[in-house]
Amino acid sequence: MWKAPAHQPRPSAGSARARGRSGRWALQLPAPAAAQPERRLSHPTPPRFACAHLQRTDRNGHGGLRPPPVLGQTPRTRPSRTTERARKIDPYLIEVAVNAPTAQPIAFGSLPGRAHLDAPADGARVLLISTYELGHQPLGLASAAAALRRAGHDVRTLDVAVEPLAGAALRAVDLIAISVPMHTAARIALQVVEAIREAKIGARLVCFGLYASPLAEHLGHRAIEVVGGEYEAGLVEVAAQVAAHRSDAVAGSGGTPSLARQQYPIPDRRGLPGLDQYARVRRADGEHLAGYVEATRGCAHTCRHCPITPVYGGALRLVQRDTVLGDIAQQVEAGAHHITFGDPDFLNAVPHSMAILEEAHRRWPALTFDVTIKVEHLIEHAYVLGRLKGFGVIWITSAFESCNNAILE
Ligand code: SF4
Repeated sequence: MWKAPAHQPRPSAGSARARGRSGRWALQLPAPAAAQPERRLSHPTPPRFACAHLQRTDRNGHGGLRPPPVLGQTPRTRPSRTTERARKIDPYLIEVAVNAPTAQPIAFGSLPGRAHLDAPADGARVLLISTYELGHQPLGLASAAAALRRAGHDVRTLDVAVEPLAGAALRAVDLIAISVPMHTAARIALQVVEAIREAKIGARLVCFGLYASPLAEHLGHRAIEVVGGEYEAGLVEVAAQVAAHRSDAVAGSGGTPSLARQQYPIPDRRGLPGLDQYARVRRADGEHLAGYVEATRGCAHTCRHCPITPVYGGALRLVQRDTVLGDIAQQVEAGAHHITFGDPDFLNAVPHSMAILEEAHRRWPALTFDVTIKVEHLIEHAYVLGRLKGFGVIWITSAFESCNNAILE
């Protein structure tokens, strides 16, 4: 069941300036209420500038966004066939969008509620696209954006799960990097790539994330580069090459994922759609906004049915405590009352994960959490279950592929 959020008036769109000091992109500050009265964003021709699956309109003819799912209800592990069909993007729509004037009201630079980001004087102009991240605000984009902005690149983000693939967002970019953290995301990414190609957008095209390396050959046939495994450093290198008009292999490219350890930056969520566009949690005290973090990447196990194994091969990477807590803090600041730990298995590194959870509970006692733990770890670490509950974990997701040991082995 999908639940639409209560209607909130949209904030004013702010200044009409769509470019930064260097003439590149700059997201806009919403104008002060006194300077510009609050108004609803007008979409005079929504079907022409939005992905097909976002073309639902309300009774006033305004383009509608997909309502966020509600956590705690029967999960939808994959979109329905109807949704899959609806996700197909008509290349014609993109072509029309790209050829449209930049001042279209639905253009990326005029979306309301965005923070202003300084456009750097040099560096590459990067567009990060997320297609699907299980109804969460996309961590893949936030983490990549943090690394790229820290390196001085001009980064914008677009989550086509909840935002239109607006023509202005595709203009004047040097590099388009699409996050493929899971199978559904990769399938939708192929459709986005097809549409971009049809529109003859000449930016360098890269897919990054968990599914990038396993799909390297498949994507390579479509002239799409990949940055797999720990993708931040590879993306930064690709952006540097783009800025220098070079093209070489980077860490994580060519189907060999990078497992290099790194100091993870605090994900940069500026410019992403608000948490009210994503999955919410329904608790006894009502419905609340939810955030999403990861305390680890990879997995210490090598289950042969799992997509993590061919990439990480049993390697586990710990996201630094301050990074995770910093990310939780900014999502609490943005209104989150619940945090999902999206680690493949929260108990892969018990002391590390429990220390983060304990500190998060100490700082935000009213915050609740959910985690994913495999059956084997639930049994092996049963002694922590009481502490999990005490620190605010209100449910645990697990999976039971089979009760037959021979099959599991
Ligand atoms: S324990 Fe879970 S996440 Fe880890 S390899 Fe096995 S199935 Fe994948």
